[in-house]
Amino acid sequence: MPTGYVFDEIFTRHNFPGHPENASRLMAVMSYLDENGILSELTLVPSRPATREELESCHRGGYIDFVEEVSRTGGGMLDPDTYTNQFSYEAALCAAGGLIDLTAAVVSGHLDNGFALVRPPGHHATPERAMGFCLFGNVAIAARSACRAMGLKRVAIVDFDVHHGNGTQAILNDDPAVLFISTHQYPFYPGTGDLTETGIDEAKGTKVNIPLRAKTGDEGFKHLFHEVVFPILRRFKPELMLVSIGFDCHWKDPLANIELSLTGYHWLCQSLSDLAAELCKGRIVFTLEGGYDLEVLAPGVGNVFRVLLGDPDFHDDLGESFWAEADVSRLVSDLKRIHDL
Ligand SMILES: [Zn+2]
Repeated sequence: MPTGYVFDEIFTRHNFPGHPENASRLMAVMSYLDENGILSELTLVPSRPATREELESCHRGGYIDFVEEVSRTGGGMLDPDTYTNQFSYEAALCAAGGLIDLTAAVVSGHLDNGFALVRPPGHHATPERAMGFCLFGNVAIAARSACRAMGLKRVAIVDFDVHHGNGTQAILNDDPAVLFISTHQYPFYPGTGDLTETGIDEAKGTKVNIPLRAKTGDEGFKHLFHEVVFPILRRFKPELMLVSIGFDCHWKDPLANIELSLTGYHWLCQSLSDLAAELCKGRIVFTLEGGYDLEVLAPGVGNVFRVLLGDPDFHDDLGESFWAEADVSRLVSDLKRIHDL
């Protein structure tokens, strides 16, 4: 069965040259996929604007109106990091709508799996606030849609962008139908994601925060995923796995210091894909969050598609970090205690 992707030119019109989260990111990715013979293997899922109802499943009406107003009148900064121009509102609606439709195609069995190559990213956007280059919570909106429109009872989101997915968590914090697992450098932007944050009310225990020290590296990630992430996913038994992937954990990324390699990224993606095959009929959908070094981002995205297409090959011309340290044993034991593993 085919592997789907979402891309639309509108995602490159949301742009601010010189800002790390700019249109050249997706242009580099699309060129790489084309030049390496990957694009022709994929099925395009057209993007479309998310509806007002879909947006309001996660965001306040007044906030949606505010983003539309600022963007439609020429754009401006929504917070010190987060820009808009005249195309940003439409791009953000299409990012969310494209991911919803890609997810629906995977849930219905029309596609095997997929990756939404969308901008602006989403995991920092809270119900009422733009933050960290994000306007609307793409992955949270898709998870809500999977539950409300597609009838799923349990959806898992795994977020391994280097920053905490505070917006995804804020939107879904009281929703027991969505397991949210985030690995992130800590303390770091945006400041949230302590391991004691586990969800509220009926959703207590469904939010899993894995705060990482600098230099965690490939071995640290493997240890954490084997000991904590995989057991929690197996216990939750999701019907769908969504992955917020950011390539800013890579050692070459300019914004952080987690020291993952492309080989480590490949291991994470292959392992999650294998687990989706075991738990939820292979239903796995990736969506792009951060990642600001184009030599990392383009082959990194290519490697995700190789996994989704069932190709065992992957590319890592950059090698491993010199600095990775990987002692996460204390963190593993703390997480096991907090989450009853
Ligand atoms: Zn990030």
